[in-house]
Parts: sequence; C-alpha cells; structure tokens
Amino acid sequence: MRNLEALAGAESRDTGKPLRLARTLDIPRAVANLRFFATAVLHESSEAYQTDEHALNVTLRRPVGVAACISPWNLPLYLFTWKIAPALATGNCVVGKPSELTPMTAFRLGEIACEAGLPPGVLNIVHGAGAGAGAALVEHPGVDAISFTGGTRTGGLIGQAAARGFKKAALELGGKNPTLVFADADLDAVVPEVVRAAFSNQGQICLCGSRVLVEASRYDAFLERFTAAVRALRLGDPLDPETDQGSLVSAAHRDKVLSYVRLAEAEGGTLLCGGGRPAALPERCRDGFFLEPTVVTQLGPECRVNQEEVFGPLVSVIPFTDEREVLAWANGTTYGLSASVFTRALDRAHRLAERLESGTVWINCWLVRDLRVPFGGMKQSGIGRESIVETVLDMTEQKTIVVNEAL
Ligand code: NAD
Repeated sequence: MRNLEALAGAESRDTGKPLRLARTLDIPRAVANLRFFATAVLHESSEAYQTDEHALNVTLRRPVGVAACISPWNLPLYLFTWKIAPALATGNCVVGKPSELTPMTAFRLGEIACEAGLPPGVLNIVHGAGAGAGAALVEHPGVDAISFTGGTRTGGLIGQAAARGFKKAALELGGKNPTLVFADADLDAVVPEVVRAAFSNQGQICLCGSRVLVEASRYDAFLERFTAAVRALRLGDPLDPETDQGSLVSAAHRDKVLSYVRLAEAEGGTLLCGGGRPAALPERCRDGFFLEPTVVTQLGPECRVNQEEVFGPLVSVIPFTDEREVLAWANGTTYGLSASVFTRALDRAHRLAERLESGTVWINCWLVRDLRVPFGGMKQSGIGRESIVETVLDMTEQKTIVVNEAL
C-alpha cells in the first residue's frame, strides 16, 4: 500500500485516534472497500424469463445518475470509501462530502483518484459543514440518490429531504449497543474483547458496546477484571505506537461526553474508573481533547446514560438475572445497530441472535465481518442495508423490458 503511511498519519492527526489503529484498521479497510466493490460488480447478472406467450422478460440495471455520499468523522476514509466505492462501481458520478472535522484523507483520495486517471467529474469531493454543504447537496435536484452515515438526528433530516425530492436514501445511523456476558463465559478470554468493543477508537465507533450486561452471579468477578483491564489501557500521544487510547475528535465532543459522565453521577451512578482528563500527558498533547476511559455502575437500564448514544469512552455495566430480563433490556432502546453475546451455550446464542433487535449480532466476538454479508441497523439505527445486493440496488434503477418474440 503505497500511501499507507501518509494516509494513516493524516487520519490520526485529523481525528486524534492512535496512529496504530489508522495504520491497521482505517486505511487497510478503505483499500479493501474499493477492491471489494470493484470486483463484486464484475459478478453482477440480470434476470431473463420466457413466458408461454413467447415473451422474453429481461431486467436491466442502470446507474441512478449522481449519488451524494455523506460520511462522519469517526472512521473518515473507511466510511467514505464504503459509500463512494459501490456508487462509482455501478457507474454513477459521485459528489462525496466527508465530515468537516476530518477532511484530510478524503482530500488526499481526490488527488490519488486524479493520479489514477479517473475522468474529471466522476468523483467530486466537496468540503463544508453539514447544515451548509451537506444540506445543499441532499436538496440539490441534480442528486438522484443519497448514501448517508452519521447521527440519527441528521439521518432524520436527510430522510425528510430525500422524501421531498423522491430520492433514494440509505441511512446508517447511531447505536446504543449492548454487550451480553453470561455466567458460563470464560472471563479471561472475554474481558479483553469486551474492552475492545467498548473503547476502540475511544468509544467512537457506532458499533461500540457501551452497555455491558453481565449475569449477576459473575458480576463482581467480571467488574474486577474489566476495570483492571480498562485501567491498563495506555492513554497518550496518538503517534506513540504503544498508545491504546488517543484523543477525542474535538473539544465540543469531549465536552458532550463529559456532560454524560456528570449525568451518570447525577443519575446515581458510581464511577469505578476514569471520569476526567488524564493527569499526565506528553507536552505535545497538552491541548488535546483527551478523556480517561470511564466505567460506571449502579445505573438502571432506563436512565438516560443507558438510553442515549454517548459515542465516547463511557461504559455502563449492569447486572441481570435471567435471559428474559437481559433480552428486554438489550432491546429496550430506540436503537438497533449491533449486539454482542458472550456465552458457551450454543442454544442460547442462537435463541438470542434471533430475538435481539439488531442489524448485526456477534456471538463471542465483536467487529468481525465478511464484507459480503449485509450491514445496517434496525429501528432508529438506520434504513436499508449496505451489501453487494442492497447497495447495488440502491445505486441503480431497475428497468424491465418485455420483448414479444412472436411478432
Ligand atoms: P453527523 O450526523 O453530525 O454528521 C455526519 C455527516 O453529515 C457529516 O459529514 C456532516 O457534515 C453531515 N451533515 C450534518 N448535518 C447535515 C445536514 N443537515 N444535511 C446533510 N448533511 C449533514 O454525525 P457525526 O457526528 O459526524 O458522526 C457520529 C455519528 O455517526 C454517531 O451517531 C454514530 O453512531 C454515527 N455513525 C454511524 C455508523 C453506522 O454505520 N451506522 C458509522 C459511523 C458513525
């Protein structure tokens, strides 16, 4: 990967995420996205049926025309490419708008596309704020389809604008994902995975498991191991290869997450670790938006901290008594993006996988996915799925042609 270092460095500087994460996750996945859709469309086929009246029925798919692709700041190039790749591969022109907070890698991608010989006008990248550039883009009569990933509130506005303009819209939105830990799980193996699910990218991944539901008989044992593992996370300079936790994306976002830490206390929660700015930071990072990974307990499933998306390094741990209770709590939010279940009981895993209201259910893992299976959310976590089948349908218009072969 010729541009790996430059792109990973840009991503880390823009977002505050550890350079190691950008190098191993963000940029390789961006490359995989482009390759995936570039080759997937080579296997596209259309339908053909012959009827008794000698009529040949054929479907054709044509590009919609111009696709608006709007992405968030948390996984900038990863999500930007996941949107533009299928739009381009199906023959559309694209106007892409990355988050105004993290424009660097999309800007560089534009240069790379020009160097690679993409014809002028095929991939257009506009930079600007959501309410200005983003809103103007989705309202523009020249835009035929919208692919959006971001917050649920923004998704609602974009959905309304798309409906007014009779445009196709695929919306990937927020989450409040549960992680279920049953008493039969091997805690030594499970705790590192629960920590990864909770705090990767400083908890700023839509799929992060921010509500950890633990079977009561192992609650104390889990908490002891979990808080020890969270305290051991190395928070520091994102450029340091040893760093696990970097900075949050902005002062405003750091303040939002901190306001939820204060809310957790006001709601009666107990902070087991974290809760503030780290005391010691390298000189270079003094003005960064760092926040300690924070674990809170004693909050009921209905309280705001357990209902609203915080999108940061704040995790709530809740004990449950049985499968019915944990299922109700896991499903008891307006979101439905992902869930993880840790158990050795295969029958329970299958039962829960079927009943959890989530676009993705991970059993004994987190953030593992073959790109060929669909991705998306239920309830207020989104509309539509991103996959070869669905995204190709979103980005094309189907046309039925019937030929009378007898005339
Ligand atoms: P956001 O909704 O504020 O912004 C996302 C993008 O939309 C940005 O490019 C922004 O400029 C643009 N935008 C904002 N207002 C707009 C408007 N009125 N019209 C058009 N465009 C507009 O989200 P964010 O803060 O950048 O990202 C965090 C959110 O994204 C979280 O809620 C997270 O869960 C969600 N997210 C979801 C997924 C998923 O796949 N479901 C993945 C990553 C992030």
